[in-house]
Formats: sequence, structure tokens, C-alpha cells
Amino acid sequence: MGKPLIGVTPWYDYSKNITYIKPGYCEGIIEAGGMPVLLPLTANEDILTCLMDEIDGLLLSGGPDVDARLYGEQNLPFNGEISPHRDKMEMFLAKKAILDNKPLLGICRGMQVMNAAMGGTLFQDIYSQSKSNSLVKHSQDAPKWYPTHDIHIEKDSRVAASFGKHYAGVNSFHHQAVKDVAEGFKVTAMSVDGIIEAVEYEDHIFAVGVQWHPELMWQENGIYLKLFIDFVCSCVK
Ligand code: MN
Repeated sequence: MGKPLIGVTPWYDYSKNITYIKPGYCEGIIEAGGMPVLLPLTANEDILTCLMDEIDGLLLSGGPDVDARLYGEQNLPFNGEISPHRDKMEMFLAKKAILDNKPLLGICRGMQVMNAAMGGTLFQDIYSQSKSNSLVKHSQDAPKWYPTHDIHIEKDSRVAASFGKHYAGVNSFHHQAVKDVAEGFKVTAMSVDGIIEAVEYEDHIFAVGVQWHPELMWQENGIYLKLFIDFVCSCVK
């Protein structure tokens, strides 16, 4: 039996005009038994539809902020760098994967794209907009693999099955977060300040979004590879 083919969405650097991927995503898929392939940056829906027919699963990688107009808001001063080509490509792919029951894993921006693609909204900046007056530090200065804040995990969720427990530490590199959860998703992990750290689309083979970066953690602690393994297993034809 061949390894499941997992399409990974690329990063794009507008100053250098290069498509690239950061370390940990493709390596994590390989380590978990899958075969990653970096998708081209394109918003051509015919091409994206054909690519989706070829791949067995979709990994939405991390990245810059989503254009707030894609979830019905104007871009406020504290919304950061945006990537219009990635927005267009990934909003299409995320929605298609969810509606077609194709396995998908969204990491950081990837989770935010999943939510926005299905009609949810984001905090453009949690430090400016969250009602919590006791936010924990979500933009860590510790090494990238180091879990700096804790999350509470919902029982009977993919994330709980992955960790095998209901409390875990995760790393954190985000100033945005899911605000209004799109219909069809349930929140399956939160940090202690109430910021949403994981969502899962219900009645789907595997549609998990996480706000942390497991691709930077599994090399140090194998427990963080389990999410990749569960994802790849769900992609087996
Ligand atoms: Mn966080």
C-alpha cells in the first residue's frame, strides 16, 4: 500500500518572489508515514480542484494574517502582514476539503483559514481585542519547540485522543485567534485565558485546526508527533 499523499500549502515571500515552506511540516508528515508534496501557489480553481483529486489529505501551514475583509471586517491597524494569493488559494482549499470530507490539518494560520473559510471570524489582535484581562503570553520568546502555555482539551475530541490527556503544554506564536466559531466546528482546546487553541469540524473524517505549532515540537518530544500520525492515518485510502 502506498503512502498517503499530503498536499502542503506553501508560504510566499513577496519581497523575494519565492514560494517556500518552513521546516517541520513535510518532515513531520514523513515521520508520521505520509508522503508530503508542496503545492504550487495558485488561486486557479480548476488546478486546485485537480490537485485535490490527487492528494489524500491537506495540510494548511502557518503564516501571516488573513485579510480581515474575508471574514467581513476592515483591516485594523494591528492586523499584520497579509498574503492575498495564499488567502485566495487556502480559503478555497479549506472549504473544499471540509465539504468533500477530505482529511485536513490546519496549523496556526491554517486553523484560522479553516474557520474563516466556513464563515467564522478572527481576532485581528488578541492583545487589543480579547475581552480577557488576563491573557497569557501567546508570542513566546522561548525556543520554538518549548511549550510555554497550557491548554485544556475537550474529552471525546481528536486532540484529546492525540494527547491521551485533557491538559497539555503547547508552544505559541500568534497574535490572532479564532473569535466567532463557524457553524459546524466545535472548540476542542482552549488556553487558560479562554483563547481558542483547537477546533474540529464535526461529522468529518478528520478536520482539525490547532493554534500551536506541532511541526516545531515533535523533534523534541514525540507526543507532539501523534497529531501528524493521526492525520496521516486518516488519509490512508
Ligand atoms: Mn497560544
